[in-house]
Amino acid sequence: MSFLKRLFGSEDSNQNRKADPEGFFVYVQCDRCEAKVRLRINKQYDLSPTDDGYEWHKTIVDSRCFQRIPTVAHFDRGLNMTHADIQGGRYISLEEYEAKEVSQPTDSEEEDG
Ligand SMILES: [Zn+2]
Repeated sequence: MSFLKRLFGSEDSNQNRKADPEGFFVYVQCDRCEAKVRLRINKQYDLSPTDDGYEWHKTIVDSRCFQRIPTVAHFDRGLNMTHADIQGGRYISLEEYEAKEVSQPTDSEEEDG
């Protein structure tokens, strides 16, 4: 795994980690087909203010099996995710999001069981 990180880390990390004044990204993986989805949250338009931070409501649809993945996430004022409910998928890190895309160079047949 680490050599893949090295390949991709230096080039992409600047772009991905760059401070985005208007929004930020979250990453979700579908439970059913394992497709990964990247979502940009616009602070101004997508977040609803709450007493101690922000709330985000979204129904994510992945691009492989088109499953609906409803989620409600809570963020503190520093926009750190404090709690999230998600159905049909899970939140993943940027590292996880990038990992499998480069570690599957060939499309082998998958066993469906
Ligand atoms: Zn899916």
